Amino acid sequence: MSTSSSNSEVEQFMAGLVKRNPHEDEFHQAVREVAESLMPFILDHSEYRKAQILERMTEPDRVVIFRVTWMDDAGNIRANRAWRVQFNNSIGPYKGGLRFHPSVTLSILKFLGFEQTFKNSLTGLPMGGGKGGSNFNPKGKSDGEVMRFCHSLMTELQRFIGEDTDVPAGDIGVGAREISYLFGQYKRLKNRFTGILTGKGLSFGGSCGRREATGYGCVYFCENMFQQRGESIAGKRVLVSGSGNVAIYSIEKAIEMGAKVLTFSDSSGFIHDPDGIDAEKLAFIKDLKEVRRGRVIEYAEKFKGAEFHEGKRPWHVPAEVALPCATQNEISGEEARALLDNGIQAVSEGANMPTELNGVHAFVKAKILFGPAKAANAGGVAVSGLEQSQNALRLSWDHDEVDGRLKGIMRDIHAKCVEYGSDADDGSVNYVKGANIAGFIKVADAMLAYGAV
Ligand code: NDP
Repeated sequence: MSTSSSNSEVEQFMAGLVKRNPHEDEFHQAVREVAESLMPFILDHSEYRKAQILERMTEPDRVVIFRVTWMDDAGNIRANRAWRVQFNNSIGPYKGGLRFHPSVTLSILKFLGFEQTFKNSLTGLPMGGGKGGSNFNPKGKSDGEVMRFCHSLMTELQRFIGEDTDVPAGDIGVGAREISYLFGQYKRLKNRFTGILTGKGLSFGGSCGRREATGYGCVYFCENMFQQRGESIAGKRVLVSGSGNVAIYSIEKAIEMGAKVLTFSDSSGFIHDPDGIDAEKLAFIKDLKEVRRGRVIEYAEKFKGAEFHEGKRPWHVPAEVALPCATQNEISGEEARALLDNGIQAVSEGANMPTELNGVHAFVKAKILFGPAKAANAGGVAVSGLEQSQNALRLSWDHDEVDGRLKGIMRDIHAKCVEYGSDADDGSVNYVKGANIAGFIKVADAMLAYGAV
């Protein structure tokens, strides 16, 4: 199939999608990235085309929208909106996080649920794709306010989830504290102790290694990409963005593997520490972010030599590796070019869709090691899948067991990307293409087998 006919098929497909889903820019972006690399494959496989698989995969199975009413500490009644997007359960129960952030919209959750379907398929585990969340802003709220919000949200959400139906987890703004409140309310309402959420505390059904899994997995994937070229992340300078769950454990693993981490950030700006972050400095970041919920500027006040750059992102700092771990569209096309100009060798996406589409094109064209989110950050949901297995078996595996399985899953995902993304001419790997095709096939084949459902 020629490139030009594939391009025109993509444009035609996207025109229909945009018409059906107006004003959903993030969803359009995520689908376009997939459609661009999948279309030539689909055009070569008439069975997928005939069965309208891509059209069906871009339409969620269902979306639930509901009001969450709660009371703040001053006794005021507050109301937020929440969603659960159950995108595709062809290969297992819906699985995907809940995000609490004022920027949450249906478009954001549809892009995340769509991506999740491919990501979960790549893990090799029986998990469908879903995502949910609310425009609730946990920042500045007391523990009591967050608890009342979570309890109220679960009072409605419990109607739609279950261990064989839909199993949510954490995401931006939803960590151990929120999952605990949500699980406590589910248990109370249903009188059932069952694995309906992942990311739970270790004393009530959580898995060892879940907290670390996304960040560690992102670095394992990066190392797998380097090894493909006979190299390693050891000794490389690394830029990290974000300072939440994914960022912190990416930093931890990168340091452990001998890299020098120069930056991290939050929505106020970024820290550049030319001396590199060591174990003591990382312990400070963990306390700052996980316990005190403070701002990154405090790091520059504590450690001399470190600079705080207000309102900026770290992508102009020279380095060999970038691990974007904050949020979507945090690397613009211009920033991608700056990274390339400074000699970036690998980008492993810890966050979901952190790179704008023209940035993705620039990385792929330059043939750097570019690990797209659906492959590089799949470690989190993979260990969530392992948490579900442990809950079903009513036992728990130790840290080494879980970490060993995580490493194996990331290795397998990397191998699938190589299988479907290798360039026969020069041996380079297009990981975007590889991840999209490999993730698609498993879901598509299940949909074909089911007939018109
Ligand atoms: P956290 O809430 O723990 O941390 C998010 C971090 O990103 C914070 O430092 C936050 O800064 C920053 N951030 C969030 N929104 C923005 C924004 N609009 N602009 C600038 N900075 C922002 O979330 P996670 O670490 O869990 O998630 C980070 C990313 O990783 C997301 O894209 C998520 O979807 C993805 N991901 C997470 C997984 C997980 O297991 N948790 C699994 C797979 C992917 P501030 O505190 O100032 O808001």
